[in-house]
Amino acid sequence: MFEHVPAFAGDPILSLMETYKADPRPEKVNLGIGIYSDDDGRLPVLDSVLAAQQQAIAQQKGKPYLPMEGDAQYRAEVLRLVLGDGHADLTSGRVATVQTLGSSGGLKLGGEFIRRWGSGRIDVSDPTWENHVSLFGDVGLAIAAYPYYDAATQGLRFDNLLAHMNTLPSGAAVLLHACCHNPTGVDLTPAQWDALIATMQARGLLPFLDMAYLGFGDGLDADAYAVRALAASGMTFFLSLSFSKNMSVYGERCGALMVFCANPEEAGRVLGQLKFLVRTQYSSPPLHGGQLVAQVLSDPALRAQWVGELQAMCERMQAMRLALARELQAIWTEDGTQNGGGRSIDFLLQQKGMFSYTGLSAGQADRLREEFGIYVLRSGRLCVAGLTTRNVAYVARALATVWA
Ligand code: PMP
Repeated sequence: MFEHVPAFAGDPILSLMETYKADPRPEKVNLGIGIYSDDDGRLPVLDSVLAAQQQAIAQQKGKPYLPMEGDAQYRAEVLRLVLGDGHADLTSGRVATVQTLGSSGGLKLGGEFIRRWGSGRIDVSDPTWENHVSLFGDVGLAIAAYPYYDAATQGLRFDNLLAHMNTLPSGAAVLLHACCHNPTGVDLTPAQWDALIATMQARGLLPFLDMAYLGFGDGLDADAYAVRALAASGMTFFLSLSFSKNMSVYGERCGALMVFCANPEEAGRVLGQLKFLVRTQYSSPPLHGGQLVAQVLSDPALRAQWVGELQAMCERMQAMRLALARELQAIWTEDGTQNGGGRSIDFLLQQKGMFSYTGLSAGQADRLREEFGIYVLRSGRLCVAGLTTRNVAYVARALATVWA
């Protein structure tokens, strides 16, 4: 019956993870997938989340269905987190919020909505997270790329990006990484966000922010700059948020889709159509993970504890960026090539978030994997959260070897 069904080519990131797991070499290092591990290479359960879990179990009140749009407290807390206390849009009623299955779920739901009720087109950054293209393509949206990363300067092609926005038809959706751009780690400055928002507003575009790394850049408030600036502009926009990384709750599938609308009446209709999409796909989101997130965000002591734990994760990643840069410098000083023959590694310290876009070619990434058991994406993306004090010197030596 299914002779005609083609084999799934596999997801490039998840397939690499499977190859890593099957690799028998004890020295292997996983810098492929975007997962934070501690200095012992373990996936942490945050103490704040663990405390929330214990409270949730103690107060267990059965396992009812959640409403289609998710838990009311969760939805309110998520909005408060991204906008900040006292923000006018916490009570304006113009935001339609749905609890989603991670940011992947929020992107899919938002993509479906745009196909049905929007322009049917979305532009993504060049490059972007591979799954953006698969996910929006599968929904049936027309996808194009806008200029973003400049390999020559390891910075942003901001003028080209702005010029591209001016070529888009009114109503076109534009996917933007709210902070800690995946895969490049290169973000817009606040002044660049302001200029981009003014251009998108003048052009009548629909911004769609993806926020998978809130708090991994310059802190929770600074990382929310784009959301707050868009909210202040009064524009209609989408925001998809994830707690996978910043609360280390990957498998709990905790996310949210927020649609900032023109007014409460419009938000009511948008929420209604989102609920319809949820009802016909999976009916309602899972209960447990959202309870933990809502508890952490609403309890002041747990929230403060979480902010401290998030800070510690960021400090560890920053320390690993520094350690890798120092190890490379030491190797290059020792072998007399100085900066590895003029190679700048400033990007290691400047790029934000979990990733470093190294400029490694696909062939060099293959060599790292085959010769050293070090897994990075073939785009050259390296997850610094997989580095530890034990493996960083080994990784530096392997990098210096494939770069030589
Ligand atoms: N967007 C981006 C940019 C990501 O990097 C990721 C995770 N790798 C996601 C969305 C989805 O994360 P999740 O579905 O776990 O929330």
